[in-house]
Amino acid sequence: MRSSFYPRLINGPFGDPALYVRLAHRGQALLFDCGDLRNLTTRELLKIRAVFISHAHIDHLIGFDVLLRQCLCRSQGLMLVGPEGILARLGSRLAGYTWNLTAGYPLTLTVREWTGTQVREQVFRACQGFQPETERHWDCPDGVLFQTPYCQVQGVALQHGDIPSLAFVLQEPVHIAIRKEELLRRGYLPGPWLTRFKDMLLAPPTADVRVAVPLQSGDMAWVGLRDLRARIASTERGMKIAYVTDVSPIPANYRRIVRLARDAHLLVIEATFAHRDLERARLRNHLTAHLAGRLGRLAGVARLQVFHHSPRYQHSPELLAEEACNAFQAGD
Ligand SMILES: [Zn+2]
Ligand SMILES: [Zn+2]
Repeated sequence: MRSSFYPRLINGPFGDPALYVRLAHRGQALLFDCGDLRNLTTRELLKIRAVFISHAHIDHLIGFDVLLRQCLCRSQGLMLVGPEGILARLGSRLAGYTWNLTAGYPLTLTVREWTGTQVREQVFRACQGFQPETERHWDCPDGVLFQTPYCQVQGVALQHGDIPSLAFVLQEPVHIAIRKEELLRRGYLPGPWLTRFKDMLLAPPTADVRVAVPLQSGDMAWVGLRDLRARIASTERGMKIAYVTDVSPIPANYRRIVRLARDAHLLVIEATFAHRDLERARLRNHLTAHLAGRLGRLAGVARLQVFHHSPRYQHSPELLAEEACNAFQAGD
């Protein structure tokens, strides 16, 4: 399967949590947690369409101002999604600056908080000095917090001591693969039209429309959507990435993690402590590397990536990745 999502931990395993996921062929990215963002270029920051915040500890949210500053002049909106309380926190953060010079700025921030059963949403516009607009809310027991025709993000509340930490699952509804050899055999020219074609397949079915197909000869052919699908496309299970961080090592969390990450192509999960320091992990409400690996194995994920290592292991930087890998592959 060719990837639709290109995930990257921008600060490595020891730095602040921030998983940057580029969406193939869309010029867009999603960000999971918003720690230090100085390792992202301006170009990369400007691609971010939505940010998913697990919880508001400072290492997960300190990058917000950097992102806001880069996005101030852009016309595409930015969505921020987080646990209960994030509306008030980001509202206060925005109120902490003077905005008398932004009247002509197009940026719109949409902030959503999920209570576990309900989404509350507020819009903050640069041109209004980021004053919060009237709150909207709707029931959301399934935790689907962000949805486009080509991907959705679902939240799951886990316990991080006495606060919730949201885990997220990013998923394609279905993966549409293009049969390259068929494309070339028919003289079709690969290009951005293929992304539009895939979006037409994902949209609710309508009467058969014709698709403009550029040819290698320089001409254009008009082909019916259904015919084109039969000729060059095939479907597979959509790609799935699970993101889990800052969770207490308790059975209720294990059950939820295994369920949410079930059969994921990639599980990105915290491994803050070595298992020999389990007592410390309990006190700090984090997972050990062994637990992270074991949960990945129980969930049947294809690939595991661990991060959010405590600096106390910096003298042996591979220790936690190896411990997680052993538990993932062998188990006990
Ligand atoms: Zn953290
Ligand atoms: Zn935390």
